[in-house]
Amino acid sequence: MHIRTIAAAALSLALAGPALAQTGQPTFATRKVDGTDNVYIYRYMGHQSMFVVTPKGVIATDPIARYRPEAATTYLAEIKKVTDQPVKYVIYSHAHYDHIAGAKPFKDQGARIVAHKNAKTRFEALKKAGALLDSVVMPDETVDTKKTITLGGTTLELHYVGRNHSDSSLVMRLPKEKLIFTVDFIPIEGVQFRNIPDNGSPLEYEESIKKVVAMDWERMIPGHPYAGGRLGTKKDAQDHLAYMQDLSAAVKKAAADGKCTDNAMTEIKLPKYEKWANYERFLPMNIERYCYWWSNGY
Ligand SMILES: [Zn+2]
Repeated sequence: MHIRTIAAAALSLALAGPALAQTGQPTFATRKVDGTDNVYIYRYMGHQSMFVVTPKGVIATDPIARYRPEAATTYLAEIKKVTDQPVKYVIYSHAHYDHIAGAKPFKDQGARIVAHKNAKTRFEALKKAGALLDSVVMPDETVDTKKTITLGGTTLELHYVGRNHSDSSLVMRLPKEKLIFTVDFIPIEGVQFRNIPDNGSPLEYEESIKKVVAMDWERMIPGHPYAGGRLGTKKDAQDHLAYMQDLSAAVKKAAADGKCTDNAMTEIKLPKYEKWANYERFLPMNIERYCYWWSNGY
C-alpha cells in the first residue's frame, strides 16, 4: 500500500484551487482518516473527496475533475492501491461542477451516481440550455430529505438540511465512525466564499448549519483542505454559525442606519474573525450578501 499523507503545514485555505500551486505540495495525495478502518480522503490540488472501502465495493464521492479528467483517473488509481473492489457508488456533494464533474470512468466500471434531487433538476435545466459541461454525468438516483446507503457492512447516511451554499448540498454521515463529509458550506476557520453565491437566503443558510450541529458526529471532512488540512470539529461548525450570526447582526444594524450596501461593505469589521482565511478579501462581499437580505429583501 502506498498511502501518501498530506504535508499539512504547506496548506492554506483553498476555495480557489490555483492558490495551492504556490504551496509546493504534491498535486494529489490520499490518506486514511485516523481511527477508521476504511475511510479515506483523496485530495487533488485544492479539492478533496471522501471514499469508503468495504469488502463489497467502494463508496466514492465527488470526482473533483472539472477541466482535468486526470483527477478522476488518478482518484481511481489511488483507490486501486487500497482495494481491488470496484466503485459501486459515486455520491455528489452538491451540483457545482468543480466538485462533481468527471464521473464517467466511475460509471464505466458500474458505479451508480447519486445526488440530491435538486442537483438532477439543475443539470437537466442546464443541459436544455446548452450549459451543462460534457464531463458532468447525470445522477442515476436521487435523494430527497434522506437516504441511507449500505454496502459491505458500512452505513452511509445522506441528509439534506435545506438550502445553503447550493440548493442541493448533502451531508454525508458515517454513523459508526461519527464522521461527516460536507462540501463548501461550512468553511473551517474561514469566512464565506465571495458574496455567498447560490443560496436561498442567509438565514436559511444559518438554519442548515444548525441542523448539522444538531447531528451526531465528531469530525468533519471538508471539500477543500482548510486550516492546514485538518478535519473539522463541532466547534468549527458552531464557530462558523456564530460568524454568520455576528455578520448578520452587524449588517442588520447597518441596514437600519441606511448604510447598505456600499458604506456597510467598507465600514463593518469583525475583528474576532480577522485571522480567518480570506477575511480581508471576502468579508466585504459577505457583507454585500447580507445587505441584500436586510435592506432589499432578497
Ligand atoms: Zn460549491
